[in-house]
Amino acid sequence: MAAEQNIAIVIHGGAGTIERDQLSSAQEHEIKQALQAALDAGYAVLEQGGDSTQSIIAAIKVMENSPHFNAGKGAVYTKPGTHELDASIMRGNDLEAGAVAGVTSTKNPILAAEQVMLNSPHVMLAGIGADTFSKLKGLEQVENSYFDTAARLKAWQEVDSKTKAKQADQAAHQDVLDVEFKFGTVGAVAVDMNGDIAAGTSTGGMTYKAWGRVGDSPVIGAGTYADNRSCGISATGHGEFFIRYAVAHDICARVRYQNKSLQQAAKEVIMDELNKVGGAGGIIGMDPAGQPVMVFNTAGMYRGFKTQTSSQVAIYGDE
Ligand code: ASP
Repeated sequence: MAAEQNIAIVIHGGAGTIERDQLSSAQEHEIKQALQAALDAGYAVLEQGGDSTQSIIAAIKVMENSPHFNAGKGAVYTKPGTHELDASIMRGNDLEAGAVAGVTSTKNPILAAEQVMLNSPHVMLAGIGADTFSKLKGLEQVENSYFDTAARLKAWQEVDSKTKAKQADQAAHQDVLDVEFKFGTVGAVAVDMNGDIAAGTSTGGMTYKAWGRVGDSPVIGAGTYADNRSCGISATGHGEFFIRYAVAHDICARVRYQNKSLQQAAKEVIMDELNKVGGAGGIIGMDPAGQPVMVFNTAGMYRGFKTQTSSQVAIYGDE
């Protein structure tokens, strides 16, 4: 008889310049509580015999509904001062996937990504079409201002004044995006009792992003990937790099074709490939045996995992 399958979930709430002097202990506590609530919601689905897709959706929804993360409520502001949200989901047993980009009224973009996967012949829908589709599927719609928070507005105002001070030429704008790299994208990867892996990611993107800019989070192979033959990955970081280096797929490919451990493959891509070129960020991942990994080249990454034998939530690099 085959060995019993481990169930496990790993989550992130974004990577970036997260240092101890930037968070009060009350903020730290609240963020850890929110991460724990997401982990518990996702793990409960697995424990009750639910599948990995429903598990990661449960976890991601908790983080989308929390103002602490840059996804759903609490999403960052675009350059024109609105919110455009991206999300994706992928199943490792049949390589089915769904994604939405630039949605503006769908309360939980991860649910829209799921609907694209389950109930459309497509993999990605963008903009008004994606919102219309999600409305047709009965998903909750909100005013764009629902996603507003004071903290994200302050971040937008800081970048806006710096950009204006630098006269907003292209180089200066890029510089501001790099320096002000903020964290908060959310993601989850789980393996269920059948050994099926699923991965999902949801984000507001990057503060001050241009109208219509799409990052890596909804791009299958960049921000999200899942394949039972290798691993599941959800990424967070400077999306333009993650797209160009096809980060999520590259990690899974190293596991599948080079027989590397997930930890080793993730380290190579995040610490070597991306670090060399200044691509800031990190990933969470899960192998078919239920072993979680969390690798990042930034000062910190909101993160956590729960397996049958251990559980952790953490923020800083030295935790
Ligand atoms: N990867 C996201 C993007 O580029 C941002 C993030 O993870 O913080 O849209």
